[in-house]
Amino acid sequence: MKAVVFYEHGGLEQVQVAEVGVPEIGAEDVLVQVKAAALNRLDLWVLAGWPSLKLHLPHILGSDGAGVIAQMGANVTGWAVGDRVAINPTLSCGRCRFCVAGQDNLCDSMAIMGEHAPGFYAEYQRVPARNLLKLPEGSSFETAAAASLVYVTAWHSLVKRGRLQAGEDVLIVGAGGGVNTAAIQIAHLAGARRIIVVGSNGEKLARAGELGATHLINRNEEDWGKAVFKLTERQGVDVVVDNVGAATYAGSLRALRKGGRLLTVGNTSGPQFAFDNRVIFGKHLEIIGSTMGPQSDFAEVMGLVFSGRLAPTIDAIYPLAETPAALRRLEAGDVVGKLIVNCEL
Ligand code: ZN
Repeated sequence: MKAVVFYEHGGLEQVQVAEVGVPEIGAEDVLVQVKAAALNRLDLWVLAGWPSLKLHLPHILGSDGAGVIAQMGANVTGWAVGDRVAINPTLSCGRCRFCVAGQDNLCDSMAIMGEHAPGFYAEYQRVPARNLLKLPEGSSFETAAAASLVYVTAWHSLVKRGRLQAGEDVLIVGAGGGVNTAAIQIAHLAGARRIIVVGSNGEKLARAGELGATHLINRNEEDWGKAVFKLTERQGVDVVVDNVGAATYAGSLRALRKGGRLLTVGNTSGPQFAFDNRVIFGKHLEIIGSTMGPQSDFAEVMGLVFSGRLAPTIDAIYPLAETPAALRRLEAGDVVGKLIVNCEL
């Protein structure tokens, strides 16, 4: 089968379309014929690699996929060949204390498809049956792939870990990026009062407004910290979504009101930085981290995607063979919404 792989860590010059074997499935798995996959910044970080990331090479990239079941493992029940499926990319053991408690994104052997395990830029992929969700006839493979990783991540962070309530004020730092655009929609759906988005790109900020942001701040034009205080009667916001990290954390902590929560699932500007601890205890702040989401959250948020109440923005669709070009566009950053790969073309 055709797949988009790399044989060595590095830059995008390492990515190639190759002929590889169709994965063999275990008794608890299904083989999915991948119809659509979606790009994430994670692809570029996996390609670059980090010291603790040990992969079987060549590695197939792509954490988001959707398709139809082509083959079933011996112990799989409740599914049939030909079923349309959405796929939760978080792999878990199903047996450890976290999995038994329904917290499978905390699994002792948690892994993410496309990151630690083979991904979806391929004609077929092996998926554990417990990661599947039925994809209704009215929902496209492209929408399911575009939504999976970013919506479960944003839903788990804002709604479950972050306890976002109707009437609260939310600040989202960064107008682009799949998790942030999902966070805007989820905050809107949850009934947040003010949804303030800070960004530097006019086009991305305009899109944030279309998705439900109530206030847009261009950080190239004004001091965003001051602007947030002005918008909130100098009180600050209840919740900040900060997946930027080094460049913005100090400002994000200052932008919180007393008792506020800072939610984080990543760091696009760097993981290590200093901040003034006095702001944490002095204002009774919480810093709440999470990664991905359990299968129950995946089912919950994808139900909202299937019903159209949450809708990922799709920028462009590429044939599988042109995935390297799509990755170059992602790296350049000139993207509003998700880039999709059609794995049948
Ligand atoms: Zn487990």
